Amino acid sequence: MSDFIGNPLFASGGITIFEVMNELAKKHNALNLGQGAPDTDGPADIRQAAADAIRTHSNQYPPLMGIPALLEAVADHNKRFYGLDIDPKREVMVAVGATEALADVILGLVAPGDEVVLIEPLYDSYLPIVKLAGGIPKLVRVTPPHWELPREELAAAFSDKTKLLLINSPMNPCSKVFSDDELQFIADLLIKHDAYALCDEVYEHLVFDGRKHRPLMTFPGMRDRCVRIGSAGKTFSLTGWKVGYITACPKLMEPIAKAHQFLIFTVPPGLQYGVAYGLNKDDSYFSGFTAEMQAKRDFLMKGLKEVGFDVLESQGTYFITCDFRPLGFDGDDVAFCQHMIETAGVVAIPVSAFYQKGDVRHFVRFCFCKREEMMIEAIARMKKAFSRA
Ligand code: PMP
Repeated sequence: MSDFIGNPLFASGGITIFEVMNELAKKHNALNLGQGAPDTDGPADIRQAAADAIRTHSNQYPPLMGIPALLEAVADHNKRFYGLDIDPKREVMVAVGATEALADVILGLVAPGDEVVLIEPLYDSYLPIVKLAGGIPKLVRVTPPHWELPREELAAAFSDKTKLLLINSPMNPCSKVFSDDELQFIADLLIKHDAYALCDEVYEHLVFDGRKHRPLMTFPGMRDRCVRIGSAGKTFSLTGWKVGYITACPKLMEPIAKAHQFLIFTVPPGLQYGVAYGLNKDDSYFSGFTAEMQAKRDFLMKGLKEVGFDVLESQGTYFITCDFRPLGFDGDDVAFCQHMIETAGVVAIPVSAFYQKGDVRHFVRFCFCKREEMMIEAIARMKKAFSRA
């Protein structure tokens, strides 16, 4: 008999691969290019705005949907970057990170027996929450090296029971930015099956090489079928703040807000003021942030190529995926990551962790939102460990 006394839904999961790798990293004093978190803090003025708010504003429960200043800032951000007209009072809600936002949307919209289409590789919280809601997951996968959307399979995953499609673009871990053509294909499926989309767009400002992030919500017929999620953690390099924001039409927002009401109810007000300040920053902050991260991507990509990895394209997010087979390692991705921590003192994440099962076994994910000195050291260590001389 299992020792696990809790909900069986959580029994099989164990601790996440991120925790496992973080623990190993600590044990071996390794450089962490695994976890998707910057190793320097976000802008000082945003942090100051939150600190000032904590000192000067009320620290009691703010409104359930969020403080008006942040609701307005989210609506304005939607207008400024995507031309979306959003009613801040009825179409925006603040959550404890994108993670809570995702849970609110899934628990609020998915009724037991509803089908939910998910595209692997999956961010770790998606599937447990869909199951918690009683949803029936229908998995479709994109795979390396090209991560192409398998259109026929995707169409076949839809049925008259489909309630929701979950799409993450730019996509973690594969750094794929869905093309307009793919998004249009998805929009057509949603209309055909009268379904909705949960759009995890936490990496909306991390889209490179002149590409533009285009929310599915901006496509014809999609305004009231999409729920869009953003994260201050990613946009302002403040992942510990855990402030996320949801944009959706009132018909969808109403049940989502109910889920939020009973799970969390409300989000720390000081942080909300800080994020409102951040979202109102000029365009130069956002373009500068993208450029800075693109430079980091280029830097790590070059280094990983020099180590000898086969480095895949990274169109967006914090991440680069590599095929390690050219290094001559004979084993799967989990074994490779353990080996790399032990021999090089560098952490990456095995990409198989993002799939339920299958044959994606020789790709690892590196994170580049790190200080350059750290990346230089990590590259040097990997070069030494994998040198064939
Ligand atoms: N979705 C994706 C795809 C992510 O990568 C992350 C963070 N790693 C989240 C959601 C969660 O974001 P937050 O920290 O705002 O909860």
